[in-house]
Amino acid sequence: MRRKLVVGNWKMNGNRAANASLLAGIVAGANGSNASCAVCAPAPYLAQCQDALSASPVAWGAQDVSAQPGGAFTGEVAAAMLADFACKYVIVGHSERRAYHGESSELVAKKAVAVLDAGMTPIVCVGETLAEREAGQTAAVVSSQLGAVLDLVGERVAQIVVAYEPVWAIGTGKTATPAMAQEVHAQLRAQLMAKNAVAAETVQILYGGSMKPDNALELMAQPDIDGGLIGGAALKAADFLAILNAAN
Ligand code: PEP
Repeated sequence: MRRKLVVGNWKMNGNRAANASLLAGIVAGANGSNASCAVCAPAPYLAQCQDALSASPVAWGAQDVSAQPGGAFTGEVAAAMLADFACKYVIVGHSERRAYHGESSELVAKKAVAVLDAGMTPIVCVGETLAEREAGQTAAVVSSQLGAVLDLVGERVAQIVVAYEPVWAIGTGKTATPAMAQEVHAQLRAQLMAKNAVAAETVQILYGGSMKPDNALELMAQPDIDGGLIGGAALKAADFLAILNAAN
């Protein structure tokens, strides 16, 4: 039985004052949840998350990481630095990183390994664009994105989280139907199964893409949907908590 996991991806939003009230709201409502939850904040606010969340059941994490261990890489943040702030999760391969920063699946795989090496859990994002879906390429695209990571993480596959995020559903208000999402999740599970049947039973596969309080229950009722990666709805404590509640 996999525990549900709800992760907020704040993207490049927030400031100290707004974060303080969002974090306080989440902490006040997250106690007693049967599902796990976490927020992935912009790097400058990780210390604030650590201060606000350490005594709570809410974990925190980052939205990206360098594949390099350290050194002359101006502007980059190393996995060890994120671990220094007790991050539990690091999102890698978000479609916005792939689209706006040209990140390849090979680079995403190296980032996943860097996260594992630093003792944290990578949340590996995969997903097809609208054009790819319409061309019937969804299965091939997500399988190649996940495959690159599976090739590099080897037997540590049990330590990753996967997030299926159809690019056309991110921030658009268009959500995959539960059946559409389940179909891809089942395919991803089968791919994990082929790599390591025991691990595949425990790896959480999250759905992301306009998950909201009013569609979360139906999505997370699907057998292979183990939670959500939430963008817009993670910026309001009430909405984020309603989704967490749907995961219970
Ligand atoms: C995301 O960016 O990971 C995401 C799922 O965003 P939204 O929920 O806003 O579609």
